[in-house]
Amino acid sequence: MSIESIELDKPREECGIFAVHLPQEADIASYCQMGIFALQHRGQESCGICVSNGDELRIEKDMGLVSEVFTEERLETLRFEGTRTGLGHTRYSTTGSSLRFNAQPMTVRSNKGIIALAHNGNFTNAKTLRQAMLDEGAVFQTTNDSEVMINMIARHSRLSLEDATATVMAELEGGFSVVLMNRREVIGLRDANGVRPLVIGELDGGYALASEPAALTVIGATYLRDVKPGELVIIDDEGLYSRQVLKPKPTPCAFEWIYFARADGILDGADVHASRIRMGEVLAAEAPVNADVVVGVPESGLPAAIGYARASGIPYDMGLYKSPYAGRTFINPNQRLRDQKVKLKLSATNAVKGKRVVLVDDSIVRGTTSGRIVQLLREAGATEVHFRVSSPPIKYPCYYGIDTAARKELAAATMTLDEIRKRIGADSLSYISEKGLSKAIGLASTCLACFNGDYPAGHPGEEASKDGMEEAKAVLN
Ligand code: SF4
Repeated sequence: MSIESIELDKPREECGIFAVHLPQEADIASYCQMGIFALQHRGQESCGICVSNGDELRIEKDMGLVSEVFTEERLETLRFEGTRTGLGHTRYSTTGSSLRFNAQPMTVRSNKGIIALAHNGNFTNAKTLRQAMLDEGAVFQTTNDSEVMINMIARHSRLSLEDATATVMAELEGGFSVVLMNRREVIGLRDANGVRPLVIGELDGGYALASEPAALTVIGATYLRDVKPGELVIIDDEGLYSRQVLKPKPTPCAFEWIYFARADGILDGADVHASRIRMGEVLAAEAPVNADVVVGVPESGLPAAIGYARASGIPYDMGLYKSPYAGRTFINPNQRLRDQKVKLKLSATNAVKGKRVVLVDDSIVRGTTSGRIVQLLREAGATEVHFRVSSPPIKYPCYYGIDTAARKELAAATMTLDEIRKRIGADSLSYISEKGLSKAIGLASTCLACFNGDYPAGHPGEEASKDGMEEAKAVLN
């Protein structure tokens, strides 16, 4: 019998990236550890840290959470004289399987010295580029698309690291943010659409880069600005300078505001928590209902539930309790108990007894968990359950670094609204509109491809999957 995660039915986060370069010696290993700890929600499968003192470069990476992998003993191996530069990564596998050899940062030896790279997102043309390099005799150690980029950079042997990276940036397609380093400098970049986030902070005369501002705050850095779509930033002993390599076409991922990003951040100028509250307010205006109480699905459905309650005047209450110990627990359920999995994580409170409930969640992927939550509320005495969702129906897969499940598994891709309502057992079901979502986030434009199939950075086709480069898996795992 397999061990199962009791994670609920949600899109899976992508990866978290972090980099720092300071003009003087510092405990870079601890900065990286704290930075990726603050980004743990973006990937829980593996993590890694790479540090340099200008001469020597050391790397540690493994499967597991930051707190499991980076024990004091392991961190000690990354603390050595003169360290000033570092990278960190937390990974959820969107391309390449979840195995140790795919953990990042990834390193190669080249005529530019050792290069280390950490990556968030997907290169949609990686498979084609990889095949072309294989045909020319290149060898690959992993099955993830980050190795394609690092190889491409290394092969521009006549160019500096900065120029090679700028050249390769223009050859890659998809949605991605990348940080890389050699022994003396750090480089960060975002794709032309700025699909995945990357922010810059200032610290002790030097700079740090991170997927989200929380990783800057935790090390005491001051947020400076977001890296612009299509921009390359270089951090070395001279300071920070920038090159606008690609024409910006900003369409950042709407799901960062719906669900992925930490609530305590501002990305591309849009406040994550405030956007989620507004999504609930918009939903209340678009899909009103007569009810007695508004309940959010913890944790990610809570801000939209608060917004719905505020705008509708229906009181908000804690109708669902989430076990604080169910975070990343794996269980071994027998067949009879497998369907009860959600009860290990969530239970209903008496706040819903005898009440007509508006239940607010951020998304419905397959619909399996949603149905069980509705059932929990009914078992606790809710007389009606009206489901409201703060994202539009997910109908298409994401090719830019989010695991939203295959199209045939997506409830909204295969069923009508009423079929989904029946499947989850709700009295009514409504999703926020795309227009309403955009209004709530407040940016001029965002990627909405998983809702409408309009991919702003192109896509590799339905047949592509995260295992697209797995031909080497058997010998490498
Ligand atoms: S397809 Fe959806 S999840 Fe993927 S980047 Fe676009 S908005 Fe985000």
